[in-house]
Amino acid sequence: DRASQLLNRMRRPARYQRPISYKPGDPKPVNACFAILARNQDWRSLRESMKQMEDRFNHQFNYPYVFLNDKPFSEEFKNMTRSMTQADVYYGQIAQEHWSYPEWIDKEKAAEKRKEMEEKGVMYGGSESYRHMCRFESGLFFKHPLMQQFDYYWRIEPGIEYRCDINYDPFLFMKERRIKYGWTIAIYELMDTVPTLWNSVKKFVAQHPETIPEYNSQWWVSRDNGTSYNGCHFWSNFEIADLSFYRSEQYSKFFEFLDREGGFFYERWGDAPVHSIAAALFLQKEEVHWFDDIGYYHPGWQHCPSGDTWLTNRCTCDPKDKSKTITNAGWGKCSHEWKLLPDTPAGQRKA
Ligand code: GDP
Ligand code: MN
Repeated sequence: DRASQLLNRMRRPARYQRPISYKPGDPKPVNACFAILARNQDWRSLRESMKQMEDRFNHQFNYPYVFLNDKPFSEEFKNMTRSMTQADVYYGQIAQEHWSYPEWIDKEKAAEKRKEMEEKGVMYGGSESYRHMCRFESGLFFKHPLMQQFDYYWRIEPGIEYRCDINYDPFLFMKERRIKYGWTIAIYELMDTVPTLWNSVKKFVAQHPETIPEYNSQWWVSRDNGTSYNGCHFWSNFEIADLSFYRSEQYSKFFEFLDREGGFFYERWGDAPVHSIAAALFLQKEEVHWFDDIGYYHPGWQHCPSGDTWLTNRCTCDPKDKSKTITNAGWGKCSHEWKLLPDTPAGQRKA
């Protein structure tokens, strides 16, 4: 039967099934890196994340890691992370203007709004650092000098898990197909964190209609033709992206506009809805890819492939576990709905 055929094939040592491999420092087919924003105390849970990334994927590919922090990294952090990989590692501090209030933000108003959100019980509602983090991840991380040399990036966070082997190069997969954005979990937003985000998006679109291509993916974030936001977003703690998407003129205009609106500080706009709305407005369906075959866990939710992929990629997650597997839960509807997005007409496709 099918299962025993697959199992037989798997008895061969895994290295024979993986023709591609690059050594640290080798030129790679894609100029790509992992990017990790972290605090010094995060090193222990990052070792977990890196252990899995290395075992499941990167020991074969040796893509470099870029670590970024708003404070200087400690020697302990550097030693405890660089010892997890043979690949090149880079450590950078974030420029102060990328982790502070723009001059047009009223800090007292921001503090009041934080207090209100905290009292309301909104997740991270009272946190100032979380807001700097979201703003940085929304529009600034790719401007860091250490990121300049790279064309693609894959985001990693502390405490995440890779629960299946990744036997091919997702960067190359994207480059060959001209895919700009890759995701594995999509979920609804806590609307208390973004009450006026869509209004700002509408203002932006009215002022810059030239940035919106005719065939885009807006339907996925707004089912009423742009009137309201349904909260669907790609969970950006996992994200593989072509950095030319973020460095594009349209994305820069978009981020600068949102930054002026103040919602990163007066509300608690997350980088996930910001990236996702931009992808939906600016990209065609074919330029965005669901890495459905990647088993990924971030505290709260996981995506777990099923069927043959589960078996051959040595997955350890349970796709049927409804409490964790987002795609089987109500919160995961957005993932399935992505597939319902109409295809771009053949002659109009960029990817
Ligand atoms: P959550 O995933 O939304 O629950 O938030 P996390 O606590 O995982 O933060 C998201 C990412 O930003 C992680 O990679 C964190 O390590 C990083 N991060 C969050 N806050 C800070 C901060 O104040 N400083 C630094 N350097 N990194 C942070
Ligand atoms: Mn996280």
